[in-house]
Amino acid sequence: MDLFTEGDPIADARAPQGPIETRWDRRRFEAKLVNPANRRKLTVIVVGTGLAGGSAAATLAEQGYRVRSYCYQDSPRRAHSIAAQGGINAAKNYRNDGDSVHRLFYDTVKGGDFRSRESNVHRLAEVSVNIIDQCVAQGVPFAREYGGLLDTRSFGGAQVQRTFYARGQTGQQLLLGAYQALERQIGLGNVEMNARHEMLELIVVDGRARGIVVRDLVTGEITSEFADAVVLASGGYGNVFYLSTNAKGCNVTATWRAHRRGAYFANPCYTQIHPTCIPVSGDHQSKLTLMSESLRNDGRVWVPNAKGDDRAPKDIPEEERDYYLERIYPSFGNLVPRDIASRAAKNVCDAGRGVGPGGLGVYLDFADAIDRLGRKAIEAKYGNLFEMYERITGEDPYEVPMRIYPAVHYTMGGLWVDYDLQSTIPGLFVVGEANFSDHGANRLGASALMQGLADGYFVLPNTIANYLAAGPFERVDASHPEAVAARRDVEDRIRRLLAVDGDRTVDSFHRELGQIMWEHCGMERSEAGLRKAIDEIRALREEFWKRVRVPGDGDGLNQSLEKAGRVADFFELAELMCVDALHREESCGGHFRAEHQTPDGEAQRDDDRFAYVAAWEYTGGDEPAVLHKEDLKFEYVHPTQRSYK
Ligand SMILES: Cc1cc2nc3c(=O)[nH]c(=O)nc-3n(C[C@H](O)[C@H](O)[C@H](O)COP(=O)(O)OP(=O)(O)OC[C@H]3O[C@@H](n4cnc5c(N)ncnc54)[C@H](O)[C@@H]3O)c2cc1C
Repeated sequence: MDLFTEGDPIADARAPQGPIETRWDRRRFEAKLVNPANRRKLTVIVVGTGLAGGSAAATLAEQGYRVRSYCYQDSPRRAHSIAAQGGINAAKNYRNDGDSVHRLFYDTVKGGDFRSRESNVHRLAEVSVNIIDQCVAQGVPFAREYGGLLDTRSFGGAQVQRTFYARGQTGQQLLLGAYQALERQIGLGNVEMNARHEMLELIVVDGRARGIVVRDLVTGEITSEFADAVVLASGGYGNVFYLSTNAKGCNVTATWRAHRRGAYFANPCYTQIHPTCIPVSGDHQSKLTLMSESLRNDGRVWVPNAKGDDRAPKDIPEEERDYYLERIYPSFGNLVPRDIASRAAKNVCDAGRGVGPGGLGVYLDFADAIDRLGRKAIEAKYGNLFEMYERITGEDPYEVPMRIYPAVHYTMGGLWVDYDLQSTIPGLFVVGEANFSDHGANRLGASALMQGLADGYFVLPNTIANYLAAGPFERVDASHPEAVAARRDVEDRIRRLLAVDGDRTVDSFHRELGQIMWEHCGMERSEAGLRKAIDEIRALREEFWKRVRVPGDGDGLNQSLEKAGRVADFFELAELMCVDALHREESCGGHFRAEHQTPDGEAQRDDDRFAYVAAWEYTGGDEPAVLHKEDLKFEYVHPTQRSYK
């Protein structure tokens, strides 16, 4: 059987034309409005309370819509966004170092290896400046300089200092800002908050998204919930690899269920492997820890010159060290983008020059910075990260260089959305990491928080009105045949999972799936490897449905059952990721095909054949997925071989 077929091309019908600086203003002006009195009659479901969902729900409620918010954690403020460490970009140019909206736009299009939409990225750069004002007004305690001005630092892929931060806890502080705005609206009765509820299905009626089926994770009760529109802000799917820097709960179920109901899934193979994570230490591990990219402002990455040199780092003299990023990429040095830094780390380790157990590590060394700035200054900038590193590894990074290695971190793929952030199902909007977003084939550091908050505070609240202006839509309740069918699907699936009663844990399947994905669809992919992976995923999925053991029942809290449902969806997603990676016979950003590289080992794009977004349609599982191509046009930043040298 063919792995996929090609369908009609897809176009972004909402994308405005004209000079790029005017497009967002024009779209906002041309979009229909809903008058304040009518907003009270319209209900919006928002799934997710991270930076994207929390900011969207708070803003929509502030505007006067009735919002119903869902998350699976026990509190909205435990969303995975809380883990974000390093910072958030904005084109404020407070440093007067040559930054501008256009430069942020340029860096992001180039950083994404020319696989993102120019219009979207420009809008993101414009809105970035509003985000900082919004968050400062909320009281987010961004780092400040001695004189009181907001401080900034550098992140990869940029030569300016545009990253605003709150020590190594930027996500936490930003999320507390969004959370307090959300709580205010909950207090006012404008948001109905449903924590510990997991969306397990989308309800589509007459071609429109009209609701969701949720399971109360405490009581096990399954209910159907309705609204005039549904917003998914359910985050990324990096945990398909089992080991990743994501919170353990992150999963694909919300977007995958929507995909199965008709929403196209775009660029699933674009995965970001972050270069600075604490290396894997053994088979027992279920989670990897990020060491923020911000550390590369002051930390220098190196390995010994000689293969197999196992001397302690302090015993390796300066002239016997290879500061390989500074050597290969002199103009960006340690702050090359993540895809480039990760591959470079892999290359030196593959060449036998890696450090630490198994040779899968490189040093991130702060000795120079401590000499130059003093320990106190380093502590003030990165104290909590250093402490975290020491707690996990038992080594003091003020004294010994950190050891780091690349790990799965972020997924650029997600549900396809148009300029209005609407999916291919009318009334289903997707924000934050859950959409295929603005990052192309590689996301620059400190851009996810920017995109999530841009979507939630500024973009969606404007664009969704254009859709809601046609509402309120005809009332739907749980007796509608589509709602009954969606709910029955959820119940059947839970029954099936419990009925297998096999002899292998959910985690053991998930771990094995992750190993297949890391080996064949991770930092480097090849045709043979991807074909092998697809066969192995199919075989393992079959085994899952015969041998998985889910103890307990569905009538109450059952975390094995929750995990089993999520892993079942990961199996289906994993196959699509491999098909997408196989069909894209080029290398770009986070997608590195061994067959397509430049003579010096950089990603070799093929713009003639692949300058498009791959939007995949679900066909029922037994039929091959259908590929719809959205052509990308570059009028302002012309595609070139990316160079950070
Ligand atoms: C360790 C780490 C550090 C990072 N640091 C940075 C950084 O410094 N700068 C930066 O820009 N980016 C950073 N990122 C990336 C960034 O944190 C994420 O991309 C971003 O926070 C995602 O936000 P989100 O709102 O889209 O999703 P999330 O924060 O993941 O929120 C998802 C929400 O959806 C809910 N949900 C999901 N599925 C369901 C379901 N089926 N039913 C009900 N609810 C559901 C969850 O409960 C949660 O509330 C970092 C990522 C990691 C892992």
